[in-house]
Amino acid sequence: PGATVKDLGDALEVPPTRIIQVLMGLGEMKTLTQTLSIEEIELIAEELGVKVEIGAVEEPAPEEVLPDDDPADLEEKPPVVTVMGHVDHGKTSLLDRIRHENVQSGEAGGITQHIGAYQVESDGRKVTFIDTPGHEAFTEMRARGAKVTDVVVLVVAADDGIMPQTQEAIEHAQAAGVPMVVALNKIDVPNANQDRVLGELSERGLMPEAYGGETVTVPVSAKTGEGIDELLENILVVAELEDLKANPHAPASGYVVEGERDPGRGPVATLLLSRGTLNKGDVVLAGTAYGRVRAMLDYTGKRVKDAGPGTPVEILGLSGVPEAGTRFEVVDHERLARDRAQQAEEKLRRQELAQGGSRRSLEDLLGEGGMQDLNLVIKADVAGSVEALKEALAKLSTDEVRVNIVRSGVGALTDSDVMLGSASDGILLGFNVRPTNTAKQVAEREGVEIRTYDVIYKALEEIESAMRGMLAPEE
Ligand code: GDP
Repeated sequence: PGATVKDLGDALEVPPTRIIQVLMGLGEMKTLTQTLSIEEIELIAEELGVKVEIGAVEEPAPEEVLPDDDPADLEEKPPVVTVMGHVDHGKTSLLDRIRHENVQSGEAGGITQHIGAYQVESDGRKVTFIDTPGHEAFTEMRARGAKVTDVVVLVVAADDGIMPQTQEAIEHAQAAGVPMVVALNKIDVPNANQDRVLGELSERGLMPEAYGGETVTVPVSAKTGEGIDELLENILVVAELEDLKANPHAPASGYVVEGERDPGRGPVATLLLSRGTLNKGDVVLAGTAYGRVRAMLDYTGKRVKDAGPGTPVEILGLSGVPEAGTRFEVVDHERLARDRAQQAEEKLRRQELAQGGSRRSLEDLLGEGGMQDLNLVIKADVAGSVEALKEALAKLSTDEVRVNIVRSGVGALTDSDVMLGSASDGILLGFNVRPTNTAKQVAEREGVEIRTYDVIYKALEEIESAMRGMLAPEE
């Protein structure tokens, strides 16, 4: 399918030569009968000032294997593993242990780099670990429609057994249809009781292999390193049953694993490729952020030129900080990426407004008439931003509206921030930080508005226009 230059000319009722001209302006040479990509059609339409609607293709299916993939193009990809389990059962220790034992420390940049995911090798095959333990990250990703995890490692401390968060993790993994490998951790501890845990698993329908079932369990110790190799082997066995394949030759797409603003390097995002190969210099679109990949680093901090399916890479060059779980794709033209990012931004705005409902929005707060205090709780990623925001916001105060910062600090927006916002009839501003999951729930319940930004001037612009909006119209 697709339209040629001539087709588009006919459809838009412009001479095809005009289209060729526009294409040349964009640095592309096409003849009458050559097919245009959807992106090119959109760009041409924009250039000619006409609107085109292109249906279904807007949001490609998130699957790693698309119907148009030639089976011959499919190649095995490393499984992506998320570690979940109850607090203190050893998730972080296990991730650290696996990383230290299996990542060659001789590599450039060493192994100090934290980009949100890393890779290890077992029997010459790669396994990718998401470096954020726990099911918050997992569920948050899923909430955004991101299917990133291929295998869940469920960590259960052998001296403690199945606890509430273990149960939750099991439910999340099952709901997502992701296979589990159970790591019976802390087997070095004297009162470790593996049999008890196996019994508890079978009670929950996870019949261990030792009992004739299908649940793979591996005794390990994150402390001594015992069983780690077996764990990796078993992850690969389970992954193999899943027949994980992807097309490395397709246009690159995948998900954002982590995003942050680095004081020196600007927006930095860790991407996990689901499909295709990402190259340095490609134009990436991730939600409201876009840009040409200026540099690409692997989990050891080494610069790389390309990355294929199942591989995490840190990229520099985006216009903003995308949120974890955001889908990304490579597009042909930077201008198109910018347009789409803007559309995404507008959509977000509209959703935020529509969500207003019972919530006390900025506009509502300011629309109540009389002299107002606008109470704000401000959180940012670094102290410098907190100060910059405080100072700039304070300057917005007018005779009618006084900006009153009731709390400011570094870090995520927490429950206690929401409660303070609620108590002071205020709203929360996050700059490069987000609310925690529970904070989101509390905000929902309390009807407190949370606004997050990644550029200061946007925050200021919106607050200012809302403040201006509340002033009585001059008529
Ligand atoms: P998380 O909350 O699940 O990430 O758990 P951590 O990795 O922070 O571990 C909690 C505590 O258990 C820490 O004090 C670890 O040192 C300890 N721990 C983790 N794994 C083991 C293990 O295999 N053996 C022993 N003895 N202690 C462990």
